[in-house]
Amino acid sequence: MPEIPGDRPEVLVQGIAASQGIAFGQVFLYLQNEVEVPDYVVEPDKRAAEVARFEQALLQTRQEISGIQSEVEKNLGPDEARIFDAHLMVLEDQALIGETVRAFESTHHNIETCFSRISGKYIKAFDEIDDEYLRERASDIRDVAQRVLRNLLGQSARNLSQLADKRIILAHDITPSDSAGIDRSQALGVVTDSGSKTSHAVIVARSMKIPAVVGVRDLTQRVQDGDWMIVDGYDGVVIVNPSESTQFRYGQIRRAKDTLQARLMEANRRPAVTLDGVAVKLMANIEKADEVALVKEYSAEGVGLYRTEFLYLSEDKMPSEQAQFDAYRAIAAGLAPQPVVIRTLDLGGDKAMASSAHLFGEEENPFMGFRAIRFCLEHTDIFKDQLRAILRASAHGQVQVMYPMISGSEEMAKANALLAECKVELRARGEKFDGNLAVGAMIEIPSAATTADILANHCSFFSVGTNDLIQYLLAIDRVNDRIAHLYEPSHPAVIRTLRQLIDVAHARNIPVGVCGEMAGDPVFVPLLLGLGIDSLSMTPPLIPAVRYLVRAMTMTDAKALAAEALTLISAKEIYAKCDAFYRARIKVD
Ligand code: PEP
Ligand code: MG
Repeated sequence: MPEIPGDRPEVLVQGIAASQGIAFGQVFLYLQNEVEVPDYVVEPDKRAAEVARFEQALLQTRQEISGIQSEVEKNLGPDEARIFDAHLMVLEDQALIGETVRAFESTHHNIETCFSRISGKYIKAFDEIDDEYLRERASDIRDVAQRVLRNLLGQSARNLSQLADKRIILAHDITPSDSAGIDRSQALGVVTDSGSKTSHAVIVARSMKIPAVVGVRDLTQRVQDGDWMIVDGYDGVVIVNPSESTQFRYGQIRRAKDTLQARLMEANRRPAVTLDGVAVKLMANIEKADEVALVKEYSAEGVGLYRTEFLYLSEDKMPSEQAQFDAYRAIAAGLAPQPVVIRTLDLGGDKAMASSAHLFGEEENPFMGFRAIRFCLEHTDIFKDQLRAILRASAHGQVQVMYPMISGSEEMAKANALLAECKVELRARGEKFDGNLAVGAMIEIPSAATTADILANHCSFFSVGTNDLIQYLLAIDRVNDRIAHLYEPSHPAVIRTLRQLIDVAHARNIPVGVCGEMAGDPVFVPLLLGLGIDSLSMTPPLIPAVRYLVRAMTMTDAKALAAEALTLISAKEIYAKCDAFYRARIKVD
């Protein structure tokens, strides 16, 4: 155990947990300094050469980035390498390049000054947008601009290959170029001042399978190179200069977590079959095409919920049929022959698009407002673009479609009529698709649950969105902290609703899955299975814990648990039974 100097007090900082695991080691403080840009006026006879110098620097930067990209593709894979496409696009951005040249032609200040000023303007504009994804574009431009400036000034780029021994990297931010240089054998963990769950540092840390915590604000200013640090990527905590007792405590936590994780991952390679031989289908919830690798890593049996909103929100514009087709096909083909359930657009509520705010309008109560299928049935042009893209993707894998926020059979009938129109249009265009594409309804509004027998005439599967179903059944806003304690998945109303739904569906040979958060919570899994749920879909990293539990229980016991839960009168009692069931099988204290 290292001796921490007495004048270095222990500091605990809460950040955002970004990549699981616990690391302990010394800090490599990585401070990227901005390039110093000289400012001077270029003599008339050197002006033509100045623009050529700029073009040469852009070319050199392009070659460097392409080199890094192929290196990353070799070491990390094509998904991580694709990050650099955004960088290469910055170099082709006609607005940025053209404005720089025009600024030079009108001011005759050296090209570094013009480029630094214009790129700074774009970085500031993106930085100020209240959207995580677009703010990431600011760091793309900053990264590329620094590279171009270094090349103009003949300076060599800094990188993270200087890790002489095993260290925890602490930086304000880690750009894709930085991360490409990281010596993977020497990096113990990654901590960044800035960042969110979608930042590049996170993607890289996850792919390197090392712990990461982001969003620790000004930690780089409070920590010295060589300080000792614990990175807890499970809870998003960073402890600088941990005392002996903290080190001891974390040593124990790490051993317990490592043992548990190893047990879970070991079991994850085995089939999800209960002790009495019942197979349980565990599927993945995804939001992006590049999550296909994650689905495979966690051995999910396909995708039970692909939330397509990300496509719309990331670009903040309505994606074209072709752009959607490309994304859906990549997932369908990447996972074939496993099924991929594509959920049509669920915008509105908490998922608003700034650029299309006029289409949604201001609402007093957006969660019960103009969202999801309600929006799609009015904006049929937008909806049909998506349906055609989904249909076309069905020619490349096992695609199924499902509609969100269905409240009754009329909506189902209208949506299906539009789907039929799309099929006619695609046939006329000579496009291929699966003529028997399975259609499902999300059951997340109480009226859909109570009219499931009627809905069954319009679809071939149900998927229960417990996140919304609980909110509407109990009238508890799912994003309101003040009433969060009343949001109880074990409420008798939820259990009874599921029981009735499953009975009605199974009598009509309609399978019922759950794709809300409840499906990934091991405490509720036996109850759901005991009630007769046919498949569970969850965020991939939750699969090992659920699979482990499935393999440690019997379906007979799960059915007895569900039968008992149906006789109990309070959410607390039902929860206690589920919790005891789980603990007895997983043997946690
Ligand atoms: C749900 O409501 O349970 C669900 C899966 O949909 P979302 O969380 O996207 O609303
Ligand atoms: Mg929902």
